Amino acid sequence: MIIQDILNTEITYLPGVGPKRAELLNKELNVFTYRDLLYYFPYKYIDRTRFYKIAELDPDLPYVQVKGKIKGYSTEGVGPGKRLVADFQDETGTIKLIWFKGGKWITGNYSPGIEFIVFGKPGVFNGIINIIHPEIEAANKIAERINSALQAQYNTTEKLKNQYLTSKTISKFVGTLLKQIKIRLPETLPPYLVAQYKLMDLHESLHKIHFPENPEELEKARHRLKFEELFYIQLNLLKFKTNRNLKLKGFIFSSVGNNFNNFYHKNLPFTLTDAQKRVMKEIRKDLGSGKQMNRLLQGDVGSGKTLVALMSMLIALDNGFQACIMAPTEILAHQHFNTISKLLEGLDIKVRLLTGSSKKASRKSIAESLLDKSLNILIGTHALLEDNVQFSNLGLVIIDEQHRFGVAQRARLWQKNTNPPHILVMTATPIPRTLAMTLYGDLDVSVIDELPPGRVPIKTMHFVDSERNKVFGFIRNQIAEHRQIYIVYPLIKESEKMDYKDLEDGWDTVSRVFPAPKYCISVVHGKMTPSIKEQSMKLFKDGYAHILIATTVIEVGVDIPNATVMIIESAERFGLSQLHQLRGRVGRGGSQSYCILMSADKLSKEAAKRIEVMISTNDGFEIAETDLQLRGPGDIEGTQQSGIPFDLKIANLARDGQLIEYVRHIAEDILAKDPLFQDVQNQIFIHELKRLFSQVQSWSNIS
Ligand code: ADP
Ligand code: MG
Repeated sequence: MIIQDILNTEITYLPGVGPKRAELLNKELNVFTYRDLLYYFPYKYIDRTRFYKIAELDPDLPYVQVKGKIKGYSTEGVGPGKRLVADFQDETGTIKLIWFKGGKWITGNYSPGIEFIVFGKPGVFNGIINIIHPEIEAANKIAERINSALQAQYNTTEKLKNQYLTSKTISKFVGTLLKQIKIRLPETLPPYLVAQYKLMDLHESLHKIHFPENPEELEKARHRLKFEELFYIQLNLLKFKTNRNLKLKGFIFSSVGNNFNNFYHKNLPFTLTDAQKRVMKEIRKDLGSGKQMNRLLQGDVGSGKTLVALMSMLIALDNGFQACIMAPTEILAHQHFNTISKLLEGLDIKVRLLTGSSKKASRKSIAESLLDKSLNILIGTHALLEDNVQFSNLGLVIIDEQHRFGVAQRARLWQKNTNPPHILVMTATPIPRTLAMTLYGDLDVSVIDELPPGRVPIKTMHFVDSERNKVFGFIRNQIAEHRQIYIVYPLIKESEKMDYKDLEDGWDTVSRVFPAPKYCISVVHGKMTPSIKEQSMKLFKDGYAHILIATTVIEVGVDIPNATVMIIESAERFGLSQLHQLRGRVGRGGSQSYCILMSADKLSKEAAKRIEVMISTNDGFEIAETDLQLRGPGDIEGTQQSGIPFDLKIANLARDGQLIEYVRHIAEDILAKDPLFQDVQNQIFIHELKRLFSQVQSWSNIS
């Protein structure tokens, strides 16, 4: 207990810190307590066993250290550029050391002729190698310097540096703190886990992560700390899932009845793919289990998730329940409504649409029919979340394109019943498995990993802006073959800040090249009213418009099989998953489809890589994996709302996938044996989970 108190001590009390620096550490680094400081890990280490010769230095090297002597000092420049310069030499050459401030102290302390070790990042000016503001110390003092060859480097900010809170200062603070805590730091994992998985113990890990003596030791410390971090995230998610299963009863959908059977035998326009069948089985098993279903359905664009959603809803109806689908945009909600109404033609099932632009009268009649149970399926947007939308017996909620909904919004639908409905979350943004384990770690996952038969893989090509005429020629030929074309722009209007193509300008050009009345061009963007948007979409959907000019509002879900060309302007502007989503708008019928990525001639390395990946594969999971590697998990859509603290301190969701799987199994085993942590050894989990997740926990207590 006492040691806990020590770790909770405010950082201001650490010798050398004080109130002013403490405030900076709070604000800039989120370091409030001793514990926070110990868990403020270095971002890299510099090997100080290696010495460079001056002749070896070049400005591309990272930090280096050199042994040599100062030959003499001079002052150069005037005003703010005024600087102290030392010529520093070893037997192989001379470089310049430069200071813009603190010159007096330097000349007073580092006399010419004495051997010094100089450490810093080499630069170059006028062809001469220099080091600006080097660390410098007497060579004969090196032994007593730091008992660590690998020197930890800490991220700092400009504000910190201005107050002389450098990486070195932070390292000093950590050193002081570790010396001050005289007791062994208590374990945060039960001893049996530490032993069984051969982990370095916490006390040693926290020392070695800051002051490693060799790379092997550092690796062990890192492993232990990553293990702990990822393990507790998984334990938290799985504990939540276990609690839910223990606490909540789900509606039991025991029978498959007329609604399902009639649809299946009379209306289903094709046979299900094997993947769709498998997923239906998984869902049916959940629905009949007596537990509340919480399932994530992943499937690449065009893999046929809508059908799975519909059949699941029919099972709900067969058991006397209502069902709803919530989509992220009006266009999508409309589309679901149309598709589903059509699929259900001739069956006695009542489906209605509710969006932000629904009229008062229709809202009223929807509300009434929900309560008197005459309405079976409600399809809509966020509008479904409004308080006045009350179901009488909601049995199944389907959330399409999940990443557009925050956790809190999901939760509001959960709460529409006294008993929780079954939840099926569908996403067309494939998420790498290990990331899904963390983002949706409390959900069960089903995957449709097969496209309906007869799809011809989309061909993806890259053209630069100067090749535009070729692309227009291609469009002309496609239209002559009665195909339709999407052209997507990153911006609606010209922007001074960003040099990307915009829709207005695009419209000017395209309508000149493809003039009316021979050609019809439709436009859709986010600034239009829903009803105008809907009309423009309809023009294209019904085949009147040859070309649809749009912003990314059409990114998600829009299904128009006759459209075979997707042109993405300023493709360098888009992320991989967005490009993949956009491409997924074509290739939906049986004919060859094309995705044309237009870009400026010059591309950044990353943009070039994205385009290369798009050309080389159509596999959404492969693309998601690359996306994760390129961008890191924090930028992946959905992570911000996930309720997980994504400023992980040491683990990395993109790189530590294997470890995530490993610790997840361990957490699963523990919960299977002791779901309530009654075993004395496991009681530490209760304490740690509370400490780690009490702030982010609230969202997950919902269902
Ligand atoms: P997504 O998974 O992207 O939501 P959709 O459900 O919109 O995909 O399905 C894409 C297209 O594939 C639709 O036109 C749908 O009718 C069709 N489709 C779905 N399942 C099958 C199947 N088993 N066989 C043939 N076509 C199918
Ligand atoms: Mg869909």
